[in-house]
Amino acid sequence: MDKNIAIKLTKLSDIQEVDIHLNDIIKLRGTLPDEVSALQRYIKKMSEKIVENEDLLATLQQDIVNKKEFLKTTEKKVQRYEAQQMEVRNNREYDAITKELELSKLDMQLAEKFLRTAYEKIEKGNIDLEELNKLLKIKENELTLKNQELETILKASKTEEDKLNRKRENIKNTLGEMLYNTYERIRTNVPNSLAVVSIKKGACGGCCIVIPPQQKLVIYERNKIVSCEHCGRMIIASEEATD
Ligand SMILES: [Zn+2]
Repeated sequence: MDKNIAIKLTKLSDIQEVDIHLNDIIKLRGTLPDEVSALQRYIKKMSEKIVENEDLLATLQQDIVNKKEFLKTTEKKVQRYEAQQMEVRNNREYDAITKELELSKLDMQLAEKFLRTAYEKIEKGNIDLEELNKLLKIKENELTLKNQELETILKASKTEEDKLNRKRENIKNTLGEMLYNTYERIRTNVPNSLAVVSIKKGACGGCCIVIPPQQKLVIYERNKIVSCEHCGRMIIASEEATD
């Protein structure tokens, strides 16, 4: 038995234990953390949409002011043309003024049409905004409740979690960077998040594939860290094993 390796094997088993506990704590939170972040994303998107709509409405309001101003000036122009029409001296002058008059009247019609549409848009836009704000309020309340719920759960497990994380940090230092990184890589790649398993009835405790006798011997000798040939998990001998 290599004493150094034996220590590392025990530490591997320890960090795995700690991570199982931490996972259990995280599992207790269920889908709540995901629900909270989904709600936050939704609210952010919605708030942006509301600001966007408000900006559009403000632009439209300004367009209305401008168009009304334009209507006023055009109306004055029309009155002026109508007065001039009475004082023309020849047909050519009359035709020219009539043409200007017609154009101005057309401008007025178009402006009035624009105003009608703009008013309709504003009315509809305001109704939409009201709906969006109502929905936003509902979602914000929902988020507050879910956040409170999550905070309660987080608070309840905080002491335990802190203790486990401190323990984890200590083990991590003993393992050394390379071995710790290997552990992390395996842990994040296997479906049950177990990077370290023990022999169970002659098989790998992770994938249940039988371990060759020669490899089993090496595991029990504890002078080498052995990985399962099938699933890649690190295999340790259980303390009392005479497997
Ligand atoms: Zn395996």
